[in-house]
Amino acid sequence: MAQSNTSQQMTDDRKLILIVEDEFVSREILKMTIEQNYDVLLAENGSQALKHIEESGDRLSLILLDLNLPDMHGVDILNMINEKEEVHRIPVIVLTADKEAEVECLDIGAADFIPKPYPDIKIIQARIRHTIELFEKRVIIGQTEFDELTGLYNKEFFYLYAERSDAHNSESLMDAIVIDINHFRMINERYGKDYSNEVLRRIGNRLGALTAEAGGLACRRDADHFMVYCPHLDDYEKVFGTLSEGISGEGNAESIVRLRMGVYPEADKSIEIERRFDRAKLAADSVKSNYATPIGTYDSELNEKNMYSEQLIVAFPEAIEKQQFQVYFQPKFDIRGDKPVLCSAEALVRWIHPEYGFISPGAFISTFETNGLINRLDNYVWRAAARQIREWSDRLGAEVPVGVSVNVSRVDLFDPDICETLLGIVEECGISQDKLLLEITESAYSEDSKHIIDTVHRLRSAGFRIEMDDFGTGYSSLNMLTSLPIDALKLDMQFVRTAFREGGDTGMIAIIIEIADLLGVPVIAEGVETEEQMIALKEMGCDIAQGYYFSKPVPAEEFERFLADR
Ligand code: C2E
Ligand code: CA
Ligand code: CA
Repeated sequence: MAQSNTSQQMTDDRKLILIVEDEFVSREILKMTIEQNYDVLLAENGSQALKHIEESGDRLSLILLDLNLPDMHGVDILNMINEKEEVHRIPVIVLTADKEAEVECLDIGAADFIPKPYPDIKIIQARIRHTIELFEKRVIIGQTEFDELTGLYNKEFFYLYAERSDAHNSESLMDAIVIDINHFRMINERYGKDYSNEVLRRIGNRLGALTAEAGGLACRRDADHFMVYCPHLDDYEKVFGTLSEGISGEGNAESIVRLRMGVYPEADKSIEIERRFDRAKLAADSVKSNYATPIGTYDSELNEKNMYSEQLIVAFPEAIEKQQFQVYFQPKFDIRGDKPVLCSAEALVRWIHPEYGFISPGAFISTFETNGLINRLDNYVWRAAARQIREWSDRLGAEVPVGVSVNVSRVDLFDPDICETLLGIVEECGISQDKLLLEITESAYSEDSKHIIDTVHRLRSAGFRIEMDDFGTGYSSLNMLTSLPIDALKLDMQFVRTAFREGGDTGMIAIIIEIADLLGVPVIAEGVETEEQMIALKEMGCDIAQGYYFSKPVPAEEFERFLADR
């Protein structure tokens, strides 16, 4: 039994070859040459050949095809094989005495040819083996080399071929380019998968055309991220223009889909190919929320910034351990009454580094967001803020009426334990949830809204109050807003700034205040710098104001002045 099993397995593993040859002697020679290593099917004419292909096509590893058959020409069989989806992967080696026909056959898709009279047996065997191996490899590669949706290379093969091209053209100057779609998730959710796929395919086609013209390679790295490695280009504006023109599709406003591009020109070939594209990606991200300039370039300035970020990452663990992070507080005032009244504060982190000095969050928050350190930092800040609330109420006697809002990064919202962590903190410090308000930036909602909204719902059911930060910069639709769990809208500072610039227009602020009224939540204006601004905002119906007009963010001891005044 075991014996027959083994032999069965052996026959199963053997590859099947079809010999199509009308001359008896020729056919027998070929058969004898290969039957030791392969299973063999024989056909004496074209129609027998077609019958075998029909019946056993899925098992065939190779066809040896004589061109001169009694009932048809071998070229017709070759054509048929090439055209039929189910069998066109089968390599064909043409057998012929006609030198002219050899070239023709290679042109129409034969893998190789064996001349007649037949060469040495070993040569025939080697060619057959080689052809089968090559085609099997091609089938395997063909399934994984390309991204199915766009037909561009996938990441692995892209890097592989990019390195191979470097090896062949070590002198040529190459650009590493990254192309991303802004707010892709939101587009996906709002306009559906079919539409998003259509956009991705369109970008794929254009990048394919670009590399066909300029040389180089293009790939879809994942989701909405594309990479191009091509000989140095001069006019990126033009490339960008070609890529983005009409990208939203016919009849669609241009603004649905916006691209951004990062270029690392004349990339340094001494660093790993992946790192070169990290730099291009960094350049793309440097223009993330800057629609006016959608193209970023990796230059010495960005390089310096990058090195600085890396230094900060290295310095982070010690900074947490040695408590180099300090929480500052900026008061928020209720401006509805005759006199502004302190109502809460925002906790804002600062890094006092023994060597680098005072570092504002703008220099490190986004870096820590990309590598996940933000979780630890925010945990630290939340705890510090909660402790401070506790300490104020203990030391300054009666319950301090103000709450403190802390910033919750979009990255924090992906932590499945966030709710438990925050509950742990308020419990540990003996304060109630509504004293620790959570500021969540509006753009977080547009990234993975379902997940984020679920998390925010959980936080809210746990008793926390949510302020939507930087409102007006994200892309929440009115529809989305009415289903969002929020307790206050915090107007993005930019609106206050532009509205009160010379010739500015407060129309946008008025609209947002109207939206807030519709939702029944108060509006907080931040970045209020002058009395005039404060009064104008108050007249427009704004409820709370925060900004340099009242105070900059200050250390806890200094903030006590506001508590005492109250
Ligand atoms: P944000 O949450 O929008 O904070 C408001 C920023 O505006 C603060 O900058 C504040 O100092 C500044 N600001 C307040 N009033 C005025 C004003 O009247 N005029 C001007 N020009 N600026 C004003 P800061 O402290 O540098 O923080 C920058 C950003 O860093 C914050 O923006 C927030 O997104 C982030 N951030 C700060 N601390 C934390 C933190 O602990 N965790 C997280 N995840 N992010 C934080
Ligand atoms: Ca904030
Ligand atoms: Ca803000």
